[in-house]
Amino acid sequence: MEKVRFGKTGLMVSKVALGGIPIMRISKTEAAKLVQETISLGINFIDTAHVYADSEEKIGEGIKGIPREDLVIATKSPANDKITFNENLDLSLKRLGVDYIDIYQLHNIGSEKRRDAIFAPGGAYEGLQEAVKAGKVRFPGFSSHSLVIAIDLMKSGKFASVQLPFNYIDHDAEKEAIPLAKKLDMGFIAMKPMGGGLLDKAELSFRYLLQYDHIVPDPGIERIEEIREIVGIVERKSALTESDKIEIEKMRTEFGPSWCHRCNYCQPCPQDIPISTALGAKSSMKRFSIERARSMIGPAIEKARNCLACGDCMTRCPYDLQIPELLKESIAYWDSAQLSK
Ligand code: SF4
Ligand code: SF4
Repeated sequence: MEKVRFGKTGLMVSKVALGGIPIMRISKTEAAKLVQETISLGINFIDTAHVYADSEEKIGEGIKGIPREDLVIATKSPANDKITFNENLDLSLKRLGVDYIDIYQLHNIGSEKRRDAIFAPGGAYEGLQEAVKAGKVRFPGFSSHSLVIAIDLMKSGKFASVQLPFNYIDHDAEKEAIPLAKKLDMGFIAMKPMGGGLLDKAELSFRYLLQYDHIVPDPGIERIEEIREIVGIVERKSALTESDKIEIEKMRTEFGPSWCHRCNYCQPCPQDIPISTALGAKSSMKRFSIERARSMIGPAIEKARNCLACGDCMTRCPYDLQIPELLKESIAYWDSAQLSK
């Protein structure tokens, strides 16, 4: 697998990273095997987060016995203050079974309030700087779902890497953030390269992303076949075709501006509604077989009928989606589709 320079960090990382969210859903043994097989395919870059349940622990199990210098490990802390940051970092090191983290990211800096808390005296950024000095962290990074905040933080010069959602539907980063990362020589991790599972065409997704030679997508992987397919696409290095571009335009029109990015930051919902699944009803029904759509979407739609329109979820949605209204639209679409069967 081709290695690329990860910006000013100088780290040489595989052209694609392993994202650590879906391994939360599989057993520890399966996860360790998946991590080992992924590494054997030439992937040396693993990205996870403190808050992804037991993901760090499972990755730690998978990398046991692999020389530390052969791997580039990135994880994230959701802390705002230094004390919590230090606790998160020590726990990340313990769970991963390593002495240092290559890239430690402040997780999802999505509001000015949070940003200000992080940079205040005694804030998480102070902890991150001290961790770099102590050798526990090699390079400071951050992730965000807000382009405005991310661009501001990139320009601050305080970070060596940035992580933003980027795929052919969620492509706002390509206007300013991606060229800026190149100009500032920052590492760029493309979060949700397949729309968090919504985009089912790996070939199209990765051909689109591979146009940018300085970004590293980190697909979340649950089965080894998935990463084998992605590695095959990356290694073939095939270019985006004219028909790909037409297909992308078609998909962008289909998803429209108020599509749910499946980040799940809107949770928890007091009615236990799986919001992102329910909001994805229309696209899932167009893209999957009726049986699969029914089993995936049906239970979420039934729960969505209990929405209280309390608006709690909207205060946490980084994309300002009008969730109760969109849920109503999803329910109506679902009901009409059932009637037409
Ligand atoms: S508005 Fe509906 S979906 Fe959102 S938190 Fe309230 S009950 Fe849940
Ligand atoms: S509704 Fe908003 S917060 Fe919830 S998953 Fe979708 S984009 Fe994310």
